[in-house]
Order: sequence, then C-alpha cells, then structure tokens
Amino acid sequence: MCDLKRQYQRIKDEVDVAIQEVIDSSAFIKGKEVGLFQDELASYLNVRHVIGCANGTDALQIALMALGLKPGDEVITPDFTFIATVEVVALLGLTPIIVDVDPSTFTMDISKLEEAITPNTKAIIPVHLFGQCANMDEIMRIAQKHNLYVVEDTAQALGADYYHAEGKIAKAGTIGTIGTTSFFPSKNLGCYGDGGALFTNDDELAAEIRSIANHGMKVRYHHDRIGVNSRLDSIQAAILRVKLKYLDEYNASRINAANAYDNLLRSCSKLITPKRASWSNHIFHQYTLKLVETDRAKVQKKLAEKGIPSMIYYPIPLHKQKAFEPYKQSNSRSFQVSELLSDSVLSLPMHTELTEEEIKFIADSLLEALNY
Ligand SMILES: *Cc1c(COP(=O)(O)O)cnc(C)c1O
Repeated sequence: MCDLKRQYQRIKDEVDVAIQEVIDSSAFIKGKEVGLFQDELASYLNVRHVIGCANGTDALQIALMALGLKPGDEVITPDFTFIATVEVVALLGLTPIIVDVDPSTFTMDISKLEEAITPNTKAIIPVHLFGQCANMDEIMRIAQKHNLYVVEDTAQALGADYYHAEGKIAKAGTIGTIGTTSFFPSKNLGCYGDGGALFTNDDELAAEIRSIANHGMKVRYHHDRIGVNSRLDSIQAAILRVKLKYLDEYNASRINAANAYDNLLRSCSKLITPKRASWSNHIFHQYTLKLVETDRAKVQKKLAEKGIPSMIYYPIPLHKQKAFEPYKQSNSRSFQVSELLSDSVLSLPMHTELTEEEIKFIADSLLEALNY
C-alpha cells in the first residue's frame, strides 16, 4: 500500500547524517532537533505553536485534557474514521456522540451535526479523512453558535489546504481550537517510528498542552495537574526535519498518482472514483474507491493474485465496534452512509513512489477483476 523503502533511498544521505548527529550528541530526549522541527512545522503551517508528542492518539488525548473537559461532557466525532478519534474520548470518561458522514467526501455530514448537539456537548472532532478536509467553515459556524471547541484530527491530511469561503487559504489543522496529527510511518509526513504533534494559535492552550505532555509540570518537579509522558524524540524530529522539506513534493506525487488512477478508472460503471470537495484540496493519504454492486472480497482476491495489495478503510463503522457498546444509548441515530461505505469502499496502493507503469498495471488489473 505504501513504499517507504524506495522513499528512504531517495533521501538516505540526508536522513543518515541527521540520525548520526543525534546519536553523536546523545541528546535523545528534548534535543535541539525537537525545537527546530516544531518551529519549522509551525512556520510551514502558519500557526503560532506546534508541540510534539509521542503519537497521534496521544495528541488527541492531550488536546481534550487541555480543554479541561470533564466526565459527562459530550464530544462529537464522525462515524467513519480510525478508532483513535473516539477512543480517547471514552478513555477520558467523556461521552462520544457519533455523527454519520457525507457519502461523497466521507467526512462529517454537516447537515447531521447540529441535531447531535445537546446542552452537554463541549467539543467537535472533525476528521480530515484520507487527505481531504472536513467542511470547516460550516463546522466553525456551528461550533461558534453553540460555544463548542473544535479539535481537528489532521493525522491523514498534514499539508492539505482549506479554502475558506471568503477566499483565505489555511492549512488543515490550524482552523479549529487545536489541531492534532500523527507521524506514523505511512502518514503523509511520517517518521521512522511513532510521533505526533498538536497545533494551536492560543498561547495559553499551548502552555497547557506543553505542561500536560510533560507530567503536568511547568516548573521542574512542580506538578500542577495530572499529565502524561508523551514526547517526540530527537531522532524522529531529526528525520521529520529532513522529510518536512519534501512534504509538498510528496503530496504532489500523491495527487498526480490519484489523477492518473482517476483517468484510467473513471469510465468504469462498477466503481466511483474519489470526489474532491470544493473547500479543500485532496492530498490522498488514501485513494479510496466506492465499488458499485460488486463482490469486493473477490476483487481483492483477484488483485492479490497479481501481487497488488488493497485495503478496506474502514470495514466497521465506529458505532458498530464492540468497544462502543456502552455508548449505544446516546447514539441511536441513523448511520446509513457509514454502513454503506464500510461495505463498498476499497483503497488502492497510494504513496510517493508510484510510477506510471505501476499505476497502469494496478488500474488495468482492477478493471479486469471487475470484468469491465
Ligand atoms: C493514524 C491516525 C490516528 C492515530 O495516530 P497514531 O500516531 O497511530 O496514534 C488518529 N486519527 C486518525 C484519523 C488516524 O488516521
């Protein structure tokens, strides 16, 4: 699905030097690379503060802790996402409220957002799924009307542009109260292990986030609150500093690959190619098709026979997950779209190293598997 080996080969010289420098300095934790990477990412995103942490799930948890949410508070998330988004809500004793998604962009269905808001609602977590932003203008309008925080889960869309209705362009993750991301190796900006970060323009929240990620302390060994231990380590930061320079190029390769897939697949009536929203560019963390009345397992098997991997992101919507059972009562709305999507989506290989020949082979094999 992803070719990190070929990607590494192209930047090997730079990455190897960066890693060796950290080892030579032995500043493995809180070394200078961490601060430099945070500053460089802040400048790339045009946001005041970037705070590194251990992974994207921690980033979401720390965000909700920094907002001071209390057990019983309700947090709204989309139904069609990776479990981490809702997991941290439950872990903190908050109540997850799930909203169905839009059938074409797979992001939170704005028309269903407002009806999910109650007097207990405190925050919304939109997910910029597969590389494309949720409808942030509408989400921010509704959030402001109801006085809610917005935490943007940007794990799959780092570097995506959001086009505000009034013409301004902002990077995904910098529009809400806090943005979070993951540097898991396969993400658009991936490190060589685990890593994550939070973004905010709010100075006080940034101080709170830094303290929470560091055992709740601002002054050493003075613990003002219960925190966690969640750090981006120096080696990962050094690798990310190298890779950040190529992020726009990487995202452009993904966009080119997606356009090439589109051109080869568009005319087939047994699938629907990914829709681009009007309010965001799409940087294709995943290239996800919808199959139309097709035996998906059979298609995957035929692709696998040719050595082509394919994946189902996500086979079970959140509201149907076993771990979610305790929250069923607060979530009795309809999830028709996410249920349909989990039965019909198929993601093809998508990464920065795909060649034209590979894309053609994958597309031709898919069309053949669909008997087109
Ligand atoms: C990957 C991902 C996360 C979690 O990131 P980790 O670094 O693996 O903890 C959270 N949300 C979404 C939407 C993701 O895709």
